[in-house]
Order: sequence, then C-alpha cells, then structure tokens
Amino acid sequence: MSSGLRDLRAPLIALSHALHRHPETAWREHASSTRLAHFLADRGLRVEHPAHGLPTAFRATAGDTGPLVVLCCEYDALPGLGHACGHNVVAAAAAGAGALLAPLARRRGGRVVVLGTPAEEGGGGKVELLRRGAFAGAAAALLAHPGREDRARAVFRAAAAYRVVFRGRAAHAAMAAASGRNALDAAVLAYEALGAARSRLAHGDLLTAVLPRGGVAPNVVPDLAELRVMTRSATTAGLDPLASAVDRAARAGAVATGCSVTVTPEGPRYRELRTDPALATYAARHLRALGRRPRAPGPDDLTVAGSTDLGNVSHVVPTAHPKLSIGDVSPHSRAFARAAVSPAGDRGALDGARLLARVALDVWAPSRGGHL
Ligand SMILES: [Zn+2]
Ligand SMILES: [Zn+2]
Repeated sequence: MSSGLRDLRAPLIALSHALHRHPETAWREHASSTRLAHFLADRGLRVEHPAHGLPTAFRATAGDTGPLVVLCCEYDALPGLGHACGHNVVAAAAAGAGALLAPLARRRGGRVVVLGTPAEEGGGGKVELLRRGAFAGAAAALLAHPGREDRARAVFRAAAAYRVVFRGRAAHAAMAAASGRNALDAAVLAYEALGAARSRLAHGDLLTAVLPRGGVAPNVVPDLAELRVMTRSATTAGLDPLASAVDRAARAGAVATGCSVTVTPEGPRYRELRTDPALATYAARHLRALGRRPRAPGPDDLTVAGSTDLGNVSHVVPTAHPKLSIGDVSPHSRAFARAAVSPAGDRGALDGARLLARVALDVWAPSRGGHL
C-alpha cells in the first residue's frame, strides 16, 4: 500500500461511516455533499459547492492540463432503508481516489474531477449534470459501486418510471356506496393488469409497481389512489412497448371502475450502460491486483440487472462502472445497508479508491500503467 493510501485509510473509513449515519434521499443530500466537499478541499482539490446550479452537487478539481477523468461520487440514500445501496462506499471510493490523484495530477499531466452527483435513486442527477455540461471534455467517467460480486464490466438496463393517479368519487362506504367511484379498485385492477402483461414481456424486460396511496378510511370509498411503476429493458428503445403496457393497464383499471386516470413520467429515462472496453480491461487488471476476482459477463446478467443514470453518461463519454463485492448480499436490502459499514464494506471503499485512482492513471498515460 502506498503512503498516500495509508494516511487516507482512517479518514476515508470515518467519512464512509459518517455518510452512512446520516442518510439523505435524492436532491436532499445537503449534509453529505458538504461533508464530501470539505474532505476534498482539505486534500488540496479546488472545490465548487454547489456546482452546475444544483444545490447538492459539487465539483472538485485537480490538475490543469491533460486527459480529464471524472470520478462520480454518489451519496443519496433510499427512502426508509438508509444506505441500502451503499452509496457511502461509492462516495468514499471516489473521494479517496480524488485525494490520491490530486498530488500527482500536475506531475503526471492529467486532470481529475470528483463530481458530486446527487439523486441516483430516482431523479437522474447525472442526466441533469450531463445536460448542464458537467462531463464536457471528459476522457473517461468512472464510478466504483459495492455489490455482491467483483465486476469490471457491470450490466445495467434502461429504465423509466411512471406515476399513475386514479381519481374517483368519495362516498359513504355503507350508506351511499353506489354513488362512489372507487379509485383503489381502479389501481388494484391496473396492478393486476400489469401482472398479466408480465407473461408477454421480452427477455430482460421488467415491470414493477407499488401502491403508495389507496384511500385513508375503510368507511369511505377512496377517491384517490396512486401506483408508481418502474419499467426496465435491455435498451432505451425497449422501454416504448413497456410504456404502452403501463398505459393499457392504467386505462383498464379506470374503464372498469368509472374513474379517471393520468400517467406521468417520473424523472428522466435512464439509458442502458455502455462499458468502454479499454476502461473495463484496466479495471479488470487492477481488481485482480487488489486480490479480487472480477466475474466474467454471463448470459443471466440482464435478468438481474439494475439501472443507473450513469447509463446516459456512457452514451456520450467512455465509461466504466466496476463493482466491488462487500459480501453475499444484494443491494436495496437492510442486510446490504449493514454490509456497507462492515469490514468488507470498508475494504470496498479503500479498494474502490485504489481501483479508481489506478484506472485514472491508465487514462492519463496508458503506456505507463497505473501503479500507486
Ligand atoms: Zn440503488
Ligand atoms: Zn447504487
């Protein structure tokens, strides 16, 4: 281990744990982004916070000339589950890599930006940052994420989300039920119709839904109900037939119950991730050098793939999104939230920092290799 990482070890783990203790959801990451901005300013990077007109985004830069590597730093948590996607590890890895690279940037002739990217779990912070020019001129965009397995080349599907609102007519559920229009019935029928649609989906397509609102009292016919639906497909084009399926299911519920319905997209579409082959090769080599065993892509990857707003970036800038195992647990669970501050989670943050820094050195000077 280099002296740089030895000195960083304790503060980096402390940073990861502090982020984990104070989870903040999409677009509300005020304390998290401030903490990270201070961490990077203390280590000699030039920090703008807020950045690109987004209150919880930041931009920390080192170096003046040469290839620009953008390290994506996620720090939003999941509603009700805290850091169940381990974005405290993502953030610590990116910030640690920034701290390792900052003193080398001028000497090695490269530039690095640690980009604070809010709202990955819905909201599409990176899509907004891309639109605002945050990735302009980048030679590479990198993000290290904790997961179940080590991966140099992660698979992510395209995704789109919808809010489906049914409006009916409230009435006394016993004395005047006939004059009501039951919005909950409409939503439940639509949910079932989505279930029926699943039998016709193409390989890798997915429809999932929750029913966050469905009435308030059992003695009143509900006049308002809401489904939130997420669709996923191998490619962005594959989302169009799924949008039609959502529309049909929504209308089926509305027609059957005499309610009205509106279907509104929630946030931008996430595009499928395109991994740059050269970056994946660098990442695989460095994962192995860290004693990890990156798993080769397999035929089942698509059917268990999530989605990321880094996908949109990957269609514009060479991108890699390697994963580092923090145990045999899946993201978006309470067990994963615990793993994100376990010894394996801490190792993920430290290895992630080294991995990102080494890949960045490869991008700066492909022939010299990335050793720290
Ligand atoms: Zn997630
Ligand atoms: Zn995540």
